Amino acid sequence: MISQNAIETLRKTEIGAQGLFIDGVQVEATSGASLPVTSPIDGRPFASIADGNAADIDRAVKSARKAFEKDEGSRDTPALRKKVLTKFAELVEKHADELAVLGVRDNGTEIGMAYKAEPLSAAGTIRYYAEAIDKVYGEIAPTAENVLGLIHKEPLGVVGVIVPWNFPLMIGAWKIAPALAAGNCVVVKPPEIASLTLLRLAELASEAGLPAGVLNVVTGLGAVTGEALGLHMDVDAIAFTGSGPVGRRLLEYSARSNLKRVFLELGGKSPNIVFADAPDLKQAAVVSANGIFRNSGQVCVAGSRLLVQASVYDRFMDELLQATMRLKVGDPLDLANDVGAVSSAEQLDKNLGFVARATEEGARLVTGGQRMLTETGGSYMAPTIFENVMQDMQLAREEVFGPVLGVMRFETEEEAVRLANSTVYGLASAVWTANLSTAHRMVRAINAGVVHVNTYGGADITVPLGGVKQSGFGRDKSLHALEKYLELKTAWIAL
Ligand code: NAD
Repeated sequence: MISQNAIETLRKTEIGAQGLFIDGVQVEATSGASLPVTSPIDGRPFASIADGNAADIDRAVKSARKAFEKDEGSRDTPALRKKVLTKFAELVEKHADELAVLGVRDNGTEIGMAYKAEPLSAAGTIRYYAEAIDKVYGEIAPTAENVLGLIHKEPLGVVGVIVPWNFPLMIGAWKIAPALAAGNCVVVKPPEIASLTLLRLAELASEAGLPAGVLNVVTGLGAVTGEALGLHMDVDAIAFTGSGPVGRRLLEYSARSNLKRVFLELGGKSPNIVFADAPDLKQAAVVSANGIFRNSGQVCVAGSRLLVQASVYDRFMDELLQATMRLKVGDPLDLANDVGAVSSAEQLDKNLGFVARATEEGARLVTGGQRMLTETGGSYMAPTIFENVMQDMQLAREEVFGPVLGVMRFETEEEAVRLANSTVYGLASAVWTANLSTAHRMVRAINAGVVHVNTYGGADITVPLGGVKQSGFGRDKSLHALEKYLELKTAWIAL
């Protein structure tokens, strides 16, 4: 784990003006323009990024295509890719302190969480796909004797990666690592408010020996660079994590351009269901509080709808309130704090808009609901709990992506299932019960990509993550994610 001393040294590092990373080097944006980078810790600018545009995306895609067609580097043998990616993972680990602090200055996640979830998780993901890629075989089809049907697995070509600001390194690595391991070349469009770690990641990849053009990073506004990537005629796939509205646009861009494949990991309104026979109500309350409030609720799988069985409602709410009050909100670079800053002043305003609407619609505010630590100039919000939330309220239906929990009461298992599934989303969920049969029935009944039992969050690179319904399609993580970046080709040979 990183030490407070190391953090204090790194938090003062000058970052300066960052260029785009194209063809193995940092370059200026074609327009020469840049965007300021403001830290949510204190509201002050501390760096700038190049403001890329469609011409820059085109430069990056051309570089990626050239690298792909050279038939070397990324398309070299799986054994060589494995060697380079393993070195890449080692370098990310070696620079974990630097990457973690840089990322926290950019997006405000508490350092304890960021350190594990960003550089360490990214390094683990890169290593996982490095180790996997020389174990992927083609197939021989069970045909008649006089023919041979071979199924080859080939890279797609140029893959565009677009990620959100909550965990840019971790989520970026979930896409970049399998795409590179499979032999593709990649153009990354980082989130405009948290681009710095992905730029540094590309430099480390280059240092590890990844040839020029195999991994490019073009910063800039989503509506400009993201759109250009989505519409580009020479991009073969887009791997996206972000909001539903932008996901829809990417599908449109694909339809309007070259029918590139699009993989979408979108938002959620995940139900966390506590039955009266939960093995340990106190522990369930602590984990539930963490499951919504860590990283200020800016976690796609956050358990933002809490469903509690009526007979234990008062007891559970008491434990939940205590667990919530114990969470220390403050400077995300202070290891003593449990919850850091909201990613930006705009996101904080958006969260407060949800609070106002929930109050107007008749939900009861149990705790929080306001900004905090305004004297710092940063964006901090108190963990917020509303009860008496009804199914037709905005808080029950729309993703806040902030530290705001809506609580509902239920009587029966059927009612819990009905409430759990009454949303357009289907990303994550949890069930707390000591009854094995209830647990298994709920796993089947809940319409979501992940069902946790007697825990919330957790899981590692070995299991897939992704949603159903309007939480998207396609899975990140695990060996299944590799399949997204490989094309099947049939050779039909007469013997
Ligand atoms: P967002 O959709 O606003 O932005 C995501 C990315 O898309 C950013 O890089 C942005 O620059 C880019 N973008 C914006 N407009 C674009 C356009 N017109 N064309 C192409 N790209 C464009 O999302 P956000 O606010 O950065 O992140 C929060 C959202 O991400 C939440 O909905 C959250 O649930 C979701 N999320 C999902 C997962 C998951 O695994 N399912 C994980 C983390 C976050």
